[in-house]
Amino acid sequence: MLKSFKTEINPSEEQKVKIHKTIGTCRFIYNFYLAHNKELYDNGEKFMSSNRFRVWLNNEYLSEHPEYSWIKKAYSKAVTQSVNNGQTAFTRFFNHESAFPNFKKKGKSDVKMYFVKNNPKDCRCERHRINIPSLGWVRIKEKGYIPTTKDGYVIKSGTVSIKADRYYVSVLVELPDNKTADNSNAGIGIDLGLKDFAIVSNGKTYKNINKSARLKKLEKQLIREQRCLSRKYENLKKGEVTQRANIQKQKLKVQKLHHRIDNIRTDYINKIIAEIVKTKPSYIAIEDLNVNGMMKNRHLSKAVASQKFYEFRTKLQVKCNENGIELRVIDRWYPSSKTCHCCGAIKKDLKLSDRIFKCSCGYVEDRDFNAALNLRDAITYEVA
Ligand SMILES: [Zn+2]
Repeated sequence: MLKSFKTEINPSEEQKVKIHKTIGTCRFIYNFYLAHNKELYDNGEKFMSSNRFRVWLNNEYLSEHPEYSWIKKAYSKAVTQSVNNGQTAFTRFFNHESAFPNFKKKGKSDVKMYFVKNNPKDCRCERHRINIPSLGWVRIKEKGYIPTTKDGYVIKSGTVSIKADRYYVSVLVELPDNKTADNSNAGIGIDLGLKDFAIVSNGKTYKNINKSARLKKLEKQLIREQRCLSRKYENLKKGEVTQRANIQKQKLKVQKLHHRIDNIRTDYINKIIAEIVKTKPSYIAIEDLNVNGMMKNRHLSKAVASQKFYEFRTKLQVKCNENGIELRVIDRWYPSSKTCHCCGAIKKDLKLSDRIFKCSCGYVEDRDFNAALNLRDAITYEVA
């Protein structure tokens, strides 16, 4: 079982320079790979894979352009990974899963320095420091956060990243399997959505509580009281006699309603999680929802915020940890809705309005339930 840990590090000045140089080279190579393939494409030539690109770069391009030989000085595993990332971006584009890959801009993009354990001395971790290939020992700010080598844990790979002048390391650690006999029931998949809050592969559906009569009534009441409050403010601006105490009273009324609505939503989430965990599944599989992306969509943001998906995910993780349940997070590009759970065929033209999934193999199922089954049975996932 692999688990990832991310924590702040405190590199020396010399190490900082190295990190910046490596990340700079990775960004350069990534962009170069994109540009090169774009050029091939424009000339009607075949797409170049990550492997072929690296062979071409080393054997042909760099020997003709010695001014770029600094590329070779960078930690090669990191450079290779950035070309692989470029290939992944293209694959997604070819599969119509994302737009044409973007060039990475300096300071704006999340280019990371990848590293991997290649020999026994790599990636050792002590309470206060970690050995990162090409950097050496780097101090960790939060001592003991990453499981140590001494205790038998093995770091497989990781990345170093920079954000707002702070440095972070993220590592994948192999943890011993500790499946407790307690959670011996079958694993379950959960499909989260806007129509219903959650559809579970065990057959349970949790409705979207915001569509309940009770919350609709409270929301209406809130809008009314908010209007009343802004009217009082406007009157005050116009110079009319409105008592400050009255405004204060109205403000309190609005706040209390906000709280009440918020509490109902939180209670609901807690209840769902408690119910799911109580069934003692050996694992729970969910989709890695792009909450930030959905919040940027102004048509969705209010609905998404009111469903508290992020809070759900965080709390579910805590409960899973407490109860020794493995939480599997499935990549958001995995076509859980479009895949037929019966024959595995992918239905590319599935529309958001298609509530029933019908496959040419004869399988007919509720769209979200089909997705929950696919999440349950997904074979690639990250353990959170
Ligand atoms: Zn089918």
